Amino acid sequence: QPELTGDFGTLMGWVDSIRTLKVRANAETPLDARTARHFGAEGIGLCRTEHMFFDPSRIIAVREMILASDEEGRRHALAKIQPYQKNDFVELFEIMQGLPVTIRLLDPPLHEFLPGNDAEMEEVARAAGTDIAVLRARNTQLHEANPMLGHRGCRLGITYPEIYEMQARAIFEAAVEVARKSGKTVSPEIMIPLVGTKKELDLLKEVIDRAAAEVFKASGTTLDYLVGTMIELPRAALTAGAIAESAAFFSFGTNDLTQTTLGMSRDDSGPFLEVYRQRGIYEHDPFASLDQEGVGELIQIAAERGRKTRPNLKLGICGEHGGDPASIAFCQRVGLDYVSCSPYRVPIARLAAAQAALGVRSDTTA
Ligand code: PEP
Ligand code: MG
Repeated sequence: QPELTGDFGTLMGWVDSIRTLKVRANAETPLDARTARHFGAEGIGLCRTEHMFFDPSRIIAVREMILASDEEGRRHALAKIQPYQKNDFVELFEIMQGLPVTIRLLDPPLHEFLPGNDAEMEEVARAAGTDIAVLRARNTQLHEANPMLGHRGCRLGITYPEIYEMQARAIFEAAVEVARKSGKTVSPEIMIPLVGTKKELDLLKEVIDRAAAEVFKASGTTLDYLVGTMIELPRAALTAGAIAESAAFFSFGTNDLTQTTLGMSRDDSGPFLEVYRQRGIYEHDPFASLDQEGVGELIQIAAERGRKTRPNLKLGICGEHGGDPASIAFCQRVGLDYVSCSPYRVPIARLAAAQAALGVRSDTTA
């Protein structure tokens, strides 16, 4: 990793004394978290927990959990995953040394977790002690024609609250353990994905608060934590005033918010977007640099309505745009508190944030 020392270090020192936007990183592995710290990240703005679930140590149990036909089966599989999940958070909290860590609860497009072939299905059948025919039927039942608009994000937490309960317990157990060992504060911020209504958030916040109360009682200690939400759907942006009654923070998931606002698949738009750019319909790829008239206006609306309800509502962005200088300038104008981007984009985000604070146009394209 390049060292941020010498002249570059001096420049970054000036940059940090000027900027008002905080810069966090999107990270879920210890390596990413260390890289983020090395480049000056002031916290983790997005830990995508579904990435942790693909780890070979637990993917079979994860498939077992998703394919289980009832709550008891899911809880049985979740109990196998929980120690790994707790350890994931212990590592992150230790590396981040008291800086805020925003952990997003599970948000997979479900098909990515389903067994892809017979060998994988047999592994799950063996681990679960279930007839393979039953698992095959369940696999078919879970198939979705459009998984990105399907059973993902908080919808998974609503239908299977035991998943979010396991994750919340793992977070609080890890936080208590690291706080005790290090003697320092640990600042978990728990984030719910793909929220569209206040009611979803309320139901899931109850699950999290209950898990916190149980862990704090069992450990004889407590710590501060926040529960907040991603804003990734136009409906969430428009109803932000109500959602802010239950959310301590908003983080704009502009990958999905772009997808849902433009009605364009984030996975399939490349070929025609190039033609759109050449024809001047979109000047930039809206998935790389914020579509300020459309997505940006929704961010502005959500920020205003959210802060009207809750003046100290913390606001951040964690989509790809969080590392793009032009988008960062927009985030400054709208009054966000932080941007979160991939670890290697942290230095450029720090610089862009300083330029935004000075009102200097950034010619740097990421
Ligand atoms: C987003 O949608 O912008 C986001 C950060 O979440 P993900 O990319 O994991 O869907
Ligand atoms: Mg998203």
